[in-house]
Amino acid sequence: MDASEEPKQANRYPAPAAIGVMFALIFIAGLVFIFMLALPMRVTVESQQLAILPSAQPIPEKEYTIKKIVFGYSKKGRPIEGYEIGSGDRVLFLHGAIHGKEMGSAMLLRELVLEIAANPHILTPSKKLVIIPIVNPDGYYDRTDKLNANGVNLNLNFPTADWQTYGPEGTFAGTEPFSETESRVLRDVVAQYKPDTMIAYHSFGALVSPEMVTSSRELARWYAEKTGYTYYDIWDYPGTATKWFEESTEGAAITVELTKDLFSDWDINKEALRELIGSEALIPTVLQDSPEGSAAPSPAPHPYGF
Ligand SMILES: [Zn+2]
Repeated sequence: MDASEEPKQANRYPAPAAIGVMFALIFIAGLVFIFMLALPMRVTVESQQLAILPSAQPIPEKEYTIKKIVFGYSKKGRPIEGYEIGSGDRVLFLHGAIHGKEMGSAMLLRELVLEIAANPHILTPSKKLVIIPIVNPDGYYDRTDKLNANGVNLNLNFPTADWQTYGPEGTFAGTEPFSETESRVLRDVVAQYKPDTMIAYHSFGALVSPEMVTSSRELARWYAEKTGYTYYDIWDYPGTATKWFEESTEGAAITVELTKDLFSDWDINKEALRELIGSEALIPTVLQDSPEGSAAPSPAPHPYGF
């Protein structure tokens, strides 16, 4: 190799290197171009998605949402189950079988839940229902009387102004108000949901018994009129859930006594319940010419409260 060939060799080899650099530059430029293309594409897709969605507003909760909830547990650890239905501001609290043997009351409330599930439009959007078919599951499943596993009549265990002990041992109404876990579950539900109205289902008496305030009496009259049950306002027991509810919240509270322990009375109550949950008002219609008090025949008195 002579000296004159060196420049040729020097010129022969830089050319492929330059081409490589050029390709690399083109490749990088291509990447940048594609990246710049991708940016507006992404924005376009996002804006199209926004346009496709109906709005940025939250999807409204449907009024027929039925939530099954365990509100607490019985003395023996059974769940006290119930339902929260709807999302309205006006809350109606219905419960049954606080006396275990009054099983028809639980059946009635379960039928109401099924009715709403099948016909969700019957619940007005302005109302919310809280339903506990069986407040006293230990009594419902284990006993043939009204009592809970401690031998307490739960419907005498609420802290009304006139609460008192009952029975030879002094424990029939509990050792003190809210001594029973099942009563405390109702207390907590009322504290959580702040119902306007409480309807306690019992048996048997085929009657509707209000607490003392006007709204309770009007609701009881209306319910009696719709069902044909007797309007009966003679009872005044201490320690009941309804009396406590009225005293502590000033809401309307009534007791509905079905015709039999083991009958749900669904056909008797169906229209009243449908109208009650479908009405915007607390009471669908306030009766104008309703009786002041009851002259109805007295049902068999319960020995220690109802
Ligand atoms: Zn009862």
